[in-house]
Amino acid sequence: MRELLNYIDGKWTEALNGDGFDVINPATGEVIAKAAKGGREDARLAIAAAKREFYSNRKGWRRLSAVKRSEVLLTVASMLEGERERFAQAETMDNGKPLREALGDVDDAVSYIRYYAGAVRMPSGVTYDVNDGFGPMHSYTVKEPVGVCGLITPWNYPLLMGVQKIAPALAAGNTIVFKPSSETPLSTVMFFELLEKAGLPAGTVNLVMGGGSTVGNEIAESADVDMVSFTGSTEVGQSIYRAAAGNVKKIGLELGGKSPNIIFADADIDGAVEWAMMGVFFNQGEVCSAGSRIIIEESVKDRFVMRLKERAEKMTLGNGLDNPDMGPLVSEEHMKKVLKFIEQSAAEGGRIVCGGSRYTLDGCEKGFFVRPTIIDNVGKDNTAVKNEIFGPVVTVQTFKTEDEAVELANDTEFGLAGAVFTKDGARALRVVKEIRAGITWINCYNPAFVEAPWGGYKKSGIGRELSTAGLEEYTETKQITVNLNPGTFGWYDIR
Ligand code: NAD
Repeated sequence: MRELLNYIDGKWTEALNGDGFDVINPATGEVIAKAAKGGREDARLAIAAAKREFYSNRKGWRRLSAVKRSEVLLTVASMLEGERERFAQAETMDNGKPLREALGDVDDAVSYIRYYAGAVRMPSGVTYDVNDGFGPMHSYTVKEPVGVCGLITPWNYPLLMGVQKIAPALAAGNTIVFKPSSETPLSTVMFFELLEKAGLPAGTVNLVMGGGSTVGNEIAESADVDMVSFTGSTEVGQSIYRAAAGNVKKIGLELGGKSPNIIFADADIDGAVEWAMMGVFFNQGEVCSAGSRIIIEESVKDRFVMRLKERAEKMTLGNGLDNPDMGPLVSEEHMKKVLKFIEQSAAEGGRIVCGGSRYTLDGCEKGFFVRPTIIDNVGKDNTAVKNEIFGPVVTVQTFKTEDEAVELANDTEFGLAGAVFTKDGARALRVVKEIRAGITWINCYNPAFVEAPWGGYKKSGIGRELSTAGLEEYTETKQITVNLNPGTFGWYDIR
């Protein structure tokens, strides 16, 4: 049985209190590893190491040139690429997702690291032409790392969500304390093994597994953490926002969503069905940007739903290692939560068009599988329309006019993503502009790139990840003004 340890100040360690937890394969219900369950004290040690490394080591990570940091990151990227299959298999066994998708995650992670290794060598800062009457001055800005960054991630893309934060944070010269989700710590531990091999100075990267209300809260509250970057649910994000106020930490929040997928009658309907499948059944629907609310023009609804049902019912479910269309949900508890949402939606009048139940056939008896589910006939206050379900469940609502479509799309507390399908170019641009969300698509759903920013409006978060904006999040801007005539004292000159 594999033992997963915390990594604090350059050493692999058991939890101080000796606690541990089981890591379970959701396809089989089997225990695949035992992990150290750190507590507040472990988190404090990790924070102290990161603080010492950032503030006191005159030869530490942040004092290396950007070129040197970039080279180390490129080494990490090559090591990860070389272990592509091993990482993908671990991710599939831990999270459940099909191996094909896990391989895609590893490829994306490699690409993200390379992107930030390059981005940190690009020009940064600006100069200003200033004259405040004090004589000639030159003013310019430089970018500096924020300090100790606390990074907290969810279970749906364990490796990728981690790398999305670690790569820019390290590129910028920060030190980090990382807490993965207890559902899926395996690939994170493996990634820290690579960071160790790459030779980062002790204390630069620290990993503490453990509970959200202990390790996570300690990171969010600590006066020695300069920034917290969190990806997870809105509810936990709100508590982190409050905890971070104590020392006015810099904050990044990538939170939940309930995104609209608007389909007009003139769209290529078969194409829209395929993208809608991608929008809501990819990664078992455990995707923050999932297009979980289909909002479709009334005249084409029946045709669309019939086709979507046909496609959904053909999907194969199974152990992710066998590359089915969909794997299990991440845990038994999460599966039960998803099934409860479906049940509640039906009790409120939703019509289950297909799916709606657990799947236990063909080797899936012990896993946590839910059939792809379409719910029709839902009012705007139906449970399944209002809540982020985070599973393979999509609702269908109809509209008659463009204004009505926009109104339904924006009738949510979230604002992460959204899409419009139509052949009318002007309408596509008009409607997409009206969607109150940070990530939008026209005639496609869910493509994401490291080059483009990712993040939400409203209760879906604060800040942006990916792209150069993602690097900015981990930097402070310092303004420096130079007196070009040090011998003069400007006060007399302006009197
Ligand atoms: P979660 O909020 O339950 O947990 C996320 C992380 O926070 C975990 O590591 C957890 O242990 C930790 N945590 C829990 N309580 C905490 C506390 N009080 N203080 C500090 N940390 C705490 O989310 P989850 O169930 O792991 O993931 C699913 C959620 O993540 C969904 O809402 C999804 O939309 C969101 N998500 C968002 C994005 C995005 O880019 N916006 C990406 C992926 C997932």
